[in-house]
Order: sequence, then structure tokens, then C-alpha cells
Amino acid sequence: MLDCGVKNGWIQFIEFIESRCSSAEFQNWIAPIRLVEANPEKVILEVPNVYVQDYLLDNFKEVLCNFLPLLASGEPAVQFLMAAENPLPVAAAPEPVEELPANEFCLNPLYTFENFIEGPSNQFVKSAAFGIASRPGKSYNPLFIHGGVGLGKTHLLHSIGHYAKEHHRKLRVQVITTEAFINDIVDHLKAKSIDKMKRFYRTLDVLLIDDIQFLQNRLGFEEEFCNTFETLLNQNKQIVITSDKPPAQLKLSERMVARLEWGLVAHMGVPDLETRVAIIKHKSERRGLSIPSQIAFFIAEHIYNNVRQIEGAINRLCAHSKLMSENLNEEVVEKILSELFQHNAPNKKISVEEILKSVAAVFEVRISEIKGESRHKEIALARQVAMYLAKEMIDDSLMKIASSFGGKTHSTLLHAWKKITDQIQINELLRRQVQMIRRNIETV
Ligand code: ADP
Ligand code: MG
Repeated sequence: MLDCGVKNGWIQFIEFIESRCSSAEFQNWIAPIRLVEANPEKVILEVPNVYVQDYLLDNFKEVLCNFLPLLASGEPAVQFLMAAENPLPVAAAPEPVEELPANEFCLNPLYTFENFIEGPSNQFVKSAAFGIASRPGKSYNPLFIHGGVGLGKTHLLHSIGHYAKEHHRKLRVQVITTEAFINDIVDHLKAKSIDKMKRFYRTLDVLLIDDIQFLQNRLGFEEEFCNTFETLLNQNKQIVITSDKPPAQLKLSERMVARLEWGLVAHMGVPDLETRVAIIKHKSERRGLSIPSQIAFFIAEHIYNNVRQIEGAINRLCAHSKLMSENLNEEVVEKILSELFQHNAPNKKISVEEILKSVAAVFEVRISEIKGESRHKEIALARQVAMYLAKEMIDDSLMKIASSFGGKTHSTLLHAWKKITDQIQINELLRRQVQMIRRNIETV
């Protein structure tokens, strides 16, 4: 039933939003929402996938409250239906191959290469991802992307999906979370249709698997997973995997770890200050909010290890600027974002001395040798690793960091950083050493 007053509220809400976001944004996110039910107690909205629901609630919850019925808690009384759960009367044409049902399998329209901001911490993995999307199955296989929470792993994974679909229209591309893969196995086991599922996965050309760490401690599923994985790899089908840890640190069987390390293992680092500023600028401009550089820097200095939090900050600033006509200065921003700002959190200042000490211990050389000029192989490698880590872990100018290495230049530092960045992709021992040193420094 559509109650007229409530329905009008919805229409006014749509008009209000349309006047406040870009037309692309409106088309992508708002236009696909369908009003299914409107009564004074609640509104039911049909959305094509969970991203649209999240987008609406993350960005416009407060605005919704002004137009729609409310719950006693003050929240908008909105219930969501996924389009797939609520089929339209017209029957869809039968698919030749079985399709996966749920929305966890959709590509997020915003997660594209164009929307991905590059910086030194993610350049390598971004170009690997782009290479794979351009020539699926023909270069590194699998590509394994690992890194901390909220750094853009899922974003890159979906970007590969979009690009591959767009440029290779015949290819069957599928993105899936590891959770969903496991649920899929469980459902098919129950329905005694596991062969059907196997057939489905084996018809894919590009399989994008998100968050493989959820496969840990799920022994029964690991084997099924590994079989599917090997079948696809043997047929040169492209696989891309994301994880919060590198393969060797995952609690998985040796066989599985070996498969994961078969192709290219790439690390996604925490974006440096300049990249964070670029992300803030990009995201806020897309939302129609102009943030002065000084404020963007101010935010980037306070939120440093999670891009999702940066987005949360921009959402808050947008909501605020829509409701109040206050100018954004540091004081206002600090007030709005106070909970998000990481005042004393892990921003422990790491010094070059700490890095030198840790590197010297692991490589069994002296700090004075690292700072010196010796070209002896072991010492030169330790020096390059220390420079690499200093650039990765210390948010300071390259010139200043380089000068702490017995007065080296910033181009020497950059050269060392580049060399080690390349080396750890192909040299397992070195990668483990670097990881160990990094952990030692971080946990002091
Ligand atoms: P992860 O999967 O690593 O936890 P996500 O891919 O979900 O992280 O990223 C979290 C949010 O941050 C997403 O909305 C994503 O678009 C955004 N994001 C992360 N890195 C970047 C980047 N380099 N450029 C633009 N947006 C980014
Ligand atoms: Mg993710």
C-alpha cells in the first residue's frame, strides 16, 4: 500500500537529494531505488544491492529522518529488500549457465581504477592489478594482494572485475567473498548439487576472491577451495585474491599456501600523507564538497591508517555542511571529527635510529656500517632495507630521512626503496626478513 502523504515524503526526499548530488552519483545510487511500500509506520525500499543500501544510510540517514516516518529510537523507519529477493512479475530469461544469486557477488560501481588514487604505497599493486585486468590469465597467476583493513584491497579487486568485463566482453568474471564461497558450498552440499556448483566455477575466466583469511580454520572447505583453485589455474583462468596477511602467515595447509604464492604476492601499504590528501580531495569533490588544501592536510595528518575512516570523515563533513552553513576551518573540523582523530593511537613516532637498530640485528651488521659507505654486499643490502623501511614507516621529507643515513641524498634513498620494493616481490627470504624487522619496530 502506498500512503499518499508518506509517498510524497519520499518524492520530496528524492528531489532534495537530486538537487544536492552530481547527476552521475544520482543515477548510480539513488535512481535505482524503488518505493515498494509506504505507510505511516514504515517505508519499504527495493535496492539492487547492499551497496546502494549502505550508500543511502551512510550519506543520507539524517536527511531521510526529515522526510520519512521515524522509529521510536529516532531512526528512519525504512526496511530494505534486495531486488533479487523480490522478483518483478516479468520472468527473467533463463540463463544458460547457473548464476550465483546473492548481492555479495556484485561489483561495486564506485570501485574502479579511475577512482583509485595512486601513491608510493599502492603503485606496485595497482599496476599489477591493471596488468592482469588488461590480459587476464596471461601474466601473474594468481595475484595475491595483502594489506591492512580499509586500504583499498576490495576496491582494486572490483576494479579488475570492471575493467576485465569492459575490455573482454566474452569473459565470465565473478567476484566473491570467501564467506560467500563457503556459504555457497554449504548450500550446494545441502541441496546435493555440489557438482552443479563445481561446473559453475569451472566455467569462469576470472575469479576474484575477497578476504581469503576467512578460509583459516575451515578445513573441510579448504580442500574444496583448493581443488577449484587448481582446476582454474590449470586452465589458465585468472585468479585474484585479497587477504589481510601474506600467504605464509595464513593458517592454511602447506598445499594451499604454496598455491597462493605461485603467482605474484603484492603488498598494499598505508598511504603516505600526500596520497591521503589526494584521496580526501578526490572523494570530497565527487561529493560536491570543496575542502581547502589546508583542511585536507589537517584531516590527513590525523587519520592515517585507514582510507575507510577518511571516507567516514568526508561523509560527516558533507552531512554537516548540508545542514549547517558554517565555514570549514580547523576548529570546526576537529569538533565534527573528534572521535575519528587518532590523537595518541599508533602514530608512535618511529625514528631512523630504531630502524637502524632492528635492521642491524637481523642482518648481523653494525649500525655504523649501515651509515657508512661500504659496498660489501651484505652491508649494502642492510642499508637498502633500512632506507626502504624508513621511507615506508616515517612520515617525513625524503631529504631529512636520507640525511639521517650518514648524509645520503634523497635520490639514493629512492633508489634503495625502489630496489627493495621490487626485490621483496620475488625474494621470499628477503620479504620475510623485512616483515620481521617491521614487526619488531612496530611492537617495541
Ligand atoms: P580493504 O578491502 O582493504 O579493507 P576497501 O577496498 O574496502 O579496503 O577500501 C575502503 C574504502 O576506502 C573504499 O570505499 C575504497 O573506495 C576507499 N579507498 C581505499 N584506498 C583507496 C585509494 N587508493 N583511492 C581511492 N579510494 C580508496
Ligand atoms: Mg575488503
